Amino acid sequence: MAKDVEHLVVAIDGPAGSGKSTVSKLVAKSLGLLYIDTGAMYRALTLKALRSGIDLDDADAVTALARSTRIDLKEEGGSLRVYLDGEDVSLDIRTPELTNKVKHVARIPSVRAEMVKQQRAIGERSGAVLEGRDIGTVVFPDAKFKFYLDADVEERARRRYKELVEANQKVEFEDIKKDVLLRDESDMKRDVGALKKAADAIFVDTTHLSVEEVVNRLLSYIR
Ligand code: C5P
Repeated sequence: MAKDVEHLVVAIDGPAGSGKSTVSKLVAKSLGLLYIDTGAMYRALTLKALRSGIDLDDADAVTALARSTRIDLKEEGGSLRVYLDGEDVSLDIRTPELTNKVKHVARIPSVRAEMVKQQRAIGERSGAVLEGRDIGTVVFPDAKFKFYLDADVEERARRRYKELVEANQKVEFEDIKKDVLLRDESDMKRDVGALKKAADAIFVDTTHLSVEEVVNRLLSYIR
């Protein structure tokens, strides 16, 4: 890693389907930085809570679980694998059923505090590109570079739909669009760590841009 990018933190926030994951991964690769998908952490914790039979609205129980759970994100063969206490759950955490349940866990303040602590520890160790909803506002408010990606809801739903179909999931476009709208609402309205653009984040509308165009735009700000 070049000296000037060591410990560099790049924060990328935005709603579901805004292109964050694809873009963040490529920006991280191009800069030689770690890529941290914070949504995957909330997803993995939700999966564990469901498997443990814990009530997702039981703040104390879910917080205790968050503190005793190990979530590892590893880059393997060009894709990000997500490990929950050592088990590869990369596919299990992407189903629409699981996706729709994450909001219960993500709105518990003490769960968010634990997640933020872990995300800061990873980012501070070596620098990283972190993507999520509250990276530029809460996790790394002093990040050197902050971006907020967004796109029209039709386009965002279309991207999610395509991803799920490619992962062999049986889904209907209208259901996915409804899910995206509901997720926007719960992500924007929760009391802690709500999705919003940091005042100093650069806003990028990705509706009519290719992945490459978005990546190049972000890199041109960074370099
Ligand atoms: O980014 P992704 O769509 O995988 O995130 C799944 C869910 O996790 C989001 O809808 C949101 O509720 C939650 N999340 C969050 N804070 C983050 C990242 C994700 O609350 N930093």
